[in-house]
Amino acid sequence: MPTKTALVSFNKCRPEGCNEGNCLAVSVCPHKLIKQEAPNEVPMFYTSGCNGCGDCVRACPRKAIKIIGI
Ligand code: SF4
Ligand code: SF4
Repeated sequence: MPTKTALVSFNKCRPEGCNEGNCLAVSVCPHKLIKQEAPNEVPMFYTSGCNGCGDCVRACPRKAIKIIGI
């Protein structure tokens, strides 16, 4: 079975339009795989441990996150 991972689109992500620059997906990941260096930065996704649950996808109001198989 392929491993899943979440990817963020730099074209679609606009952190400044989210919770005062804080990515809304960070807190929903059950494995804490999403990190933001600072408010208004595009978040980073760590691939190791992602189960493709989609919680981050649903949390993003701009549909900037997608799940892919790797
Ligand atoms: S919730 Fe979506 S648009 Fe907002 S910072 Fe996170 S990935 Fe970007
Ligand atoms: S799909 Fe689930 S496990 Fe993977 S980064 Fe998103 S919230 Fe985390």
